[in-house]
Amino acid sequence: MPTILIRNLLVFVLAVVMTLGAVTPVAISQSTTPIDGFSASRVAAERRWEEQFRSVPNPKSAREHLRRLTLEPHIAGTKEDYDTAVYVRDQLRSYGLQAELKEYEVWLNYPNTPTVLELITTRRLKLNTREAVVPGDPTSSNPKITPLFNGYSANGDVTAPVVYANYGLPGDYEELKKAGVDVKGKIVIVRYGNSFRGVKAKVAEDNGAIGCIIYSDPEDDGYMQGDVFPKGPWRPVASGQRGSVQYLFDYPGDPLTPGRPSIPGEPRLKPEEATDLTRIPVQPIAYDVARTILDKLKGPVRPRGFQGGLPFAYHVGGTDDVKLHLKTDMDYKIRKIWDVVARIDGSEEKDRWVILGNHRDAWVFGAVDPNSGSSVMLEVGRGFGELLKQGWKPRRTIILCSWDAEEYGLIGSTEWAEEQAAELKDKAVAYLNLDAAVSGAHFGASSVPSLWKLMRGATRDVKDPKTGKSVYQQWQDRARENRPETEQNPGEVRITALGSGSDYTPFLQHLGVASTDMGFNGDYGVYHSAYDSFYWMDHFGDPGFQYHVAASQLWGTMAMRLADADGLTFDYTDYATQIREYFTEAFRLARIRNLAGGLDEKAVNSAVDDLAKEAERVEKNRLEAIRNSDRAKLAKINDALIQAERQFIDQRGLRGRAWYKHQIYAPGFYTGYAAQPLTDFRQALDDRNSTNARESLERIIEAIKRVTRTLRESA
Ligand SMILES: [Zn+2]
Repeated sequence: MPTILIRNLLVFVLAVVMTLGAVTPVAISQSTTPIDGFSASRVAAERRWEEQFRSVPNPKSAREHLRRLTLEPHIAGTKEDYDTAVYVRDQLRSYGLQAELKEYEVWLNYPNTPTVLELITTRRLKLNTREAVVPGDPTSSNPKITPLFNGYSANGDVTAPVVYANYGLPGDYEELKKAGVDVKGKIVIVRYGNSFRGVKAKVAEDNGAIGCIIYSDPEDDGYMQGDVFPKGPWRPVASGQRGSVQYLFDYPGDPLTPGRPSIPGEPRLKPEEATDLTRIPVQPIAYDVARTILDKLKGPVRPRGFQGGLPFAYHVGGTDDVKLHLKTDMDYKIRKIWDVVARIDGSEEKDRWVILGNHRDAWVFGAVDPNSGSSVMLEVGRGFGELLKQGWKPRRTIILCSWDAEEYGLIGSTEWAEEQAAELKDKAVAYLNLDAAVSGAHFGASSVPSLWKLMRGATRDVKDPKTGKSVYQQWQDRARENRPETEQNPGEVRITALGSGSDYTPFLQHLGVASTDMGFNGDYGVYHSAYDSFYWMDHFGDPGFQYHVAASQLWGTMAMRLADADGLTFDYTDYATQIREYFTEAFRLARIRNLAGGLDEKAVNSAVDDLAKEAERVEKNRLEAIRNSDRAKLAKINDALIQAERQFIDQRGLRGRAWYKHQIYAPGFYTGYAAQPLTDFRQALDDRNSTNARESLERIIEAIKRVTRTLRESA
């Protein structure tokens, strides 16, 4: 899964048009230009190593990795998936890195037979659940392409009237109720967008629907956006979006082993005991098929906001004379999956781990999602291999992870993180994620606030291939054009919050490991379809593969700085500022909803003030210790900076979902992918529950105080 950047695509399109003209020379960093975290005596050497590293990744090699990884569909647990694991392992070994496969046994479904979908009106019409062959794209005729299906759809055989429920969010069902339409016992058809698809399945089930069809409306990523594939990058009519409907917001990973690794000897739930699985059949379809269904619907004309891009007035349906027959036939089994884990041992701090991760499994070929990231990982591995040959000795350990079964629910990363939980809590410095690394030329990033400085710093030292400016400059120029100045570090480009939908989730939200995610994004209209192919990438996403190179340079540079720094670039002043901003917004909401009365805003402000003060003091000490090369002091400060993020973890977990333990960041219940900062507090405000609001606020304040205490202990 990628992040939810698709919504911003229109903005991106505009920005491309506006910025293509302006080419200004990039200010190349001098070999002595300071790097945050490095003493003056070590900067020159670090810059030399980094420049050598950045000279290694090249377009030809990145292109070849991507071609090789996307030859066959490689859905998690298949032989073709295993082959990609072996390829990645062997490539990394050939660069001189130690690399091993790590196997887990997890609960996965494949369609036994393509789903049966029939429209029943005065006659019975069989509808298609396969994607079409696209002339021109050679892999689109591959017989191994899986038919359209949803990961973790239930098995079912249902026939019922159809109701169109827009995006399938709670508010949409409210609208239906107002229009006098009840979905109980019916099959709903909903469109993709505005929430994670698992949320659509859950809300449909909660409202009594017995089946759920999800389609890609042309308004979201089809012809309303631009030319469709193969003429352009957008979704063609006979294309649908596969994807998991696991309740990721409850817990990710193997549904049968929440909180524990899926290895022999560990207890497993029975499938019917898993709380993160839907009980109704869920099926994705293409928009030509959706058109056939929606065109027939009667009942009230659509409420406000329900109309999509098909050329007729949408009706909500619900009448007895338009029914669907939906029969899913899933082969559920415990199946083997394979992570690849490669490591470069640190020369001085072997027990401090800088972890880079990207998933490798794909719904079909996955050229963007995720193998642009896998190609980048291999180029980074090749770069590190070259440096090692030339005598580079990273101070801390670097671990490269190629995850499996991310698409089903972050499984490979979650199982590994659960298995290594104790060690990770002790040793992990940070986790740097890449998923769909390249689908265009527009940089975007998400991260915990403490790592904003690291991300911005690295983007200043990598060149944007199209404009020749630094990635940072290009990123900032576009942000300025598209958005008014924000309150977050005025003048600095905004880095968004981590929600869920990719492999940083177990690290950040279960264990409290500071995490980042990033990518170069563009007009990506073929998400989770058979056309997310090598051909698409070669023609639309990154012809020339220069952005694969830039992503490699950036990711590797960030890792090198974390692995080699004297004093780690973790800035808790930024964290305090961000938390203050979240609280300002939350209390504004609380006042609007008349819930602020019993809430101790003063206690919040004083906790955040203390954190800000302590953060400032640590930063001063860090800079001073770097200047004085005070190794003993730096060791203490670094440990505190690493452990501070861990203190946001509350072992009791979030309300009703104990797997999620981070008190600031988690996906929202009804957003699924998008972050809902101060999660439980915000949820309580949404639920208008003042008792929960008070209790969650107390827990957040406790967590902030723990962070402050940990930072203080470094003194
Ligand atoms: Zn992905």
